[in-house]
Amino acid sequence: MTIPDKRATDRASLLSRLEGVIGLDLRVRFTEFRSPSLLEIALESNDLLGLQAESGQDIMVEVPVGQGQFVRRRYSIVDLDPQAGTMSLLIALKGNGPGETWATHLQPGDLIDAVGPRGKQPVNHAAARHLFLADHSAFAATSQMVRSISSGHVHVVAAFPSTQDAMAFTASSSAVEIGVEVLSPVAHGDVEPFLAAVEALSAEFLAEEGLQCYLNAEFSIVNRVRSLLTDRGVAVSAIATKPYWRRNVANAPHGEPIKD
Ligand SMILES: Cc1cc2nc3c(=O)[nH]c(=O)nc-3n(C[C@H](O)[C@H](O)[C@H](O)COP(=O)(O)OP(=O)(O)OC[C@H]3O[C@@H](n4cnc5c(N)ncnc54)[C@H](O)[C@@H]3O)c2cc1C
Repeated sequence: MTIPDKRATDRASLLSRLEGVIGLDLRVRFTEFRSPSLLEIALESNDLLGLQAESGQDIMVEVPVGQGQFVRRRYSIVDLDPQAGTMSLLIALKGNGPGETWATHLQPGDLIDAVGPRGKQPVNHAAARHLFLADHSAFAATSQMVRSISSGHVHVVAAFPSTQDAMAFTASSSAVEIGVEVLSPVAHGDVEPFLAAVEALSAEFLAEEGLQCYLNAEFSIVNRVRSLLTDRGVAVSAIATKPYWRRNVANAPHGEPIKD
């Protein structure tokens, strides 16, 4: 038996060790700033025709790091249209990093090597009440997850680096009652505004039966907000978490933040 090399990030290695993903040869249609620090990469491909992905899932794209070397970075799938074979990525810009350099240099017609869909944090459609906490890097996933909910209550707490970067969250159905709390300006990775927002949530809201929480953000934000929610009585099983990046530490070559 061959033991897969968990460090290898080339397409063949990823496909051999990750279940349910396929190789995606994507072409850039256009790039456009949705806000001063949020860049849309619009993509097309025959590989997207018929593709099934859950809201909040992502793809692993190959990005260069110099000297012919590559790493993977993960970006959430936005507005997938499996009939047209199109989708977008929304890249939160923050100043450096191979993912950012790659994204900001893309031109229409450029080809992208990706694998996907990835991600195992689906929306709990049985829940009656949803609480999302997201930083700027998780706007893409959170906006898609919110839109996939067809009824009930949704409360979003989302941080943006500037007021000009604040983006709207919309529900796809009038049967969804949505409340959005925008935190801005918030420095990248600042946990305090999230903790204050969770402290301000009423005990009744957190004790409601059928509450599901989703924490998608920087590593420490995710961990500290999860602790605060559990301190406030929310069951661990009702809190789905996904760290997207880690303050002052580059993500690993496979695209995940480094764990302790
Ligand atoms: C499942 C998953 C889905 C993701 N989806 C998206 C998405 O849809 N859109 C998106 O923009 N990102 C998303 N990310 C994060 C993304 O994959 C990269 O981590 C991010 O783009 C930074 O990559 P980089 O190569 O530019 O920087 P890295 O090489 O990872 O880091 C370089 C430096 O930048 C810092 N840094 C990294 N990210 C940030 C940030 N947001 N703010 C401030 N400093 C930062 C690091 O701490 C480090 O010091 C997702 C991550 C995961 C795990």
